[in-house]
Amino acid sequence: MGRVFVAGSINMDVVATADRHPKIGETVAGKAVHYFPGGKGANQAVAVAKLGAPSTLIGRLGMDAFGQQLRQFLTAQGVDLALVKDTPDIHTGTAVITIADADNTIVVVPGANALVSDDDVAGPALAKGDVAVSQFEIPQPTIVAFFKRARAAGAITILNPAPAIACGPELLDLVDILILNETELGLLAQTELQETDDPARFAEATRRLPIGPDKIICVTLGKRGVLALVGGEPSLFAGRAVKAVDTTGAGDCFVGALAAQLANGKAIRDAIEHANAAASICVQRMGAAPSLPTAAEVAAVLS
Ligand code: ATP
Repeated sequence: MGRVFVAGSINMDVVATADRHPKIGETVAGKAVHYFPGGKGANQAVAVAKLGAPSTLIGRLGMDAFGQQLRQFLTAQGVDLALVKDTPDIHTGTAVITIADADNTIVVVPGANALVSDDDVAGPALAKGDVAVSQFEIPQPTIVAFFKRARAAGAITILNPAPAIACGPELLDLVDILILNETELGLLAQTELQETDDPARFAEATRRLPIGPDKIICVTLGKRGVLALVGGEPSLFAGRAVKAVDTTGAGDCFVGALAAQLANGKAIRDAIEHANAAASICVQRMGAAPSLPTAAEVAAVLS
């Protein structure tokens, strides 16, 4: 069995709820405050661990209370944190979220995540059969260094270019599997896409990406499922008919589940089917990390 190494962000999401959002310069009384472990890197590493594959996170925390709480939480989820560095003079990545009127505002301050460096990704002894995963909440030059090492070791590289930020061909050349939603595809392919577009339109857009036809591309389409391009051939994995209550973290669940399956030696189409099922469980529960399913739960859905 291979191992999954996730180089990515670790955040504490601080969520305040109120009856309405304050106007500029105004203070309103809130109703409650919640603290949720988050960050795409941490969420994806937890997804891998809960699905039963060895999961190592590479990242940084500040030497503060949030850092300690996140370390405890991630350890309890079964994520190996040997390569997560406590970093002085900087705070742990924090997202400040306000929810009111069924709408949210989010300010994310990367803190220690912005310092994840080439040295940090030089640590893991990657091997053939391992899977290297990253996203865009850590510096792109660090991802390039990580994927170069992974490639040299014969590991599979998975990029989830989220949040949507432009990137150069040097990074995309190092990617084996690209997993992105319609917003990220629109940005990287430099074309206008709507969530409701026909899947054929998304397949067409993937041809505008500055990457070779040898790459595997998964476009996640929410409740419509996943459009996969393997060897340039598009196929739709239909979304599972479920009652979604909170889609937060569905994309992270999909990425983590796919990586876990590939580390277990599964073929790509089986891995996509499995990840589609895992993400459909995630959307039926509240929150990001707490909603991630176990291997037994996914097996029950697929049986
Ligand atoms: P987020 O940023 O909220 O994590 P995303 O935009 O990255 O989301 P989505 O495309 O919304 O990702 O969802 C990822 C996957 O989750 C989908 O490809 C699908 O497998 C599953 N999924 C999402 N929403 C639903 C739903 N309503 N019903 C069934 N499956 C869903």
